[in-house]
Amino acid sequence: MNKNKKWIKCTVSGLLIASGISMTVPTSPVSADGPFYNGNETIKNERLHSYEEMVKLLERLDTKSEALSLEVYGQSVKGRDLYLAKFGNNESNPTVLYLTQQHGNETLTTEGALKFIQHLTSNSKEVKEMLENVNILVAPRLNVDGAEGDVNFSLDDYVSGTHTRYNANEVDLNRDHVAREQPETQSLHENVLQRYSPDYMIDLHHQGAETTLGDTDELVSGSILYPTNEEVDPEVVEKSKQLGAVLYNTVESRGFGTLSKYIGGSAQTISRNGLAVEYGIATLLFEMRGMADHYREDYVLGQKSNGYLIKQAVIGMEATAKAIADGSINEADTSFWDTLPESSYNKSEHE
Ligand SMILES: [Zn+2]
Repeated sequence: MNKNKKWIKCTVSGLLIASGISMTVPTSPVSADGPFYNGNETIKNERLHSYEEMVKLLERLDTKSEALSLEVYGQSVKGRDLYLAKFGNNESNPTVLYLTQQHGNETLTTEGALKFIQHLTSNSKEVKEMLENVNILVAPRLNVDGAEGDVNFSLDDYVSGTHTRYNANEVDLNRDHVAREQPETQSLHENVLQRYSPDYMIDLHHQGAETTLGDTDELVSGSILYPTNEEVDPEVVEKSKQLGAVLYNTVESRGFGTLSKYIGGSAQTISRNGLAVEYGIATLLFEMRGMADHYREDYVLGQKSNGYLIKQAVIGMEATAKAIADGSINEADTSFWDTLPESSYNKSEHE
């Protein structure tokens, strides 16, 4: 815990009270070094999908789309249904799983996943062709209680006080992939991972707002990492690196963002490692810049970057699904990993 968090909370509140108004900042395209929350901008998390709104959207898409099959695969601590959006059901095709918001305060990943699901229900020729060659699973917002701030502990120390990293029992779900003591992780393993046996998994998160590319001052729009636990089969690591290559090339080639190599732990309790060890799934961690809420002020990102970061998540998902469907992922050159600068400045990140 951050010793200064009380001080931070007081400062932010003080600024907001002193300003006396709730500023509305117009959305505009921003670069990777664009604006971040520093007391000059209020946080408007109400623009994000609430749980209820997310469910409504998923149900509406399920009714209208033949391609989508919506499933409830479990319940959270507080009894909220956990949803899985399924596209394609051909056992001879590869299967990819996109997982978002294991941490409730890492919101834009789910916004991106919902857009991706909408895209897959669009009935376009391109999507139809893709879905003939890949099964796509999207599990948006694993931590539904934390995302609603509906938890059994206080959020007074959080900048916004609306979203938390932890689930309702104050457990970090992305450290529960071995013991699986929480209903969210248990359901994910038993009813998604073990039932559908994905070949690939991208785990979408958010990191601090001030992560830079290597030793430079350039702020990154995101960071990526493959499984780093020593028990992972080298072939699975290579496939994971290919997944990262497709995503990296897409984000960078569109001039869209700057990605660094995430500095992450090797513990099996983390999904990136655990799923690769236990099931042989090729995994990739994909971190977006900044968060909706945190007790550390420098982790919180204002709304101005939202559109851009959501888009980054969407193009990452679209590109990887397409490359898995057409097989081009198997040709992806992984050598970029050897020179990809690591994240720096903000060393206390957590996936
Ligand atoms: Zn996270």
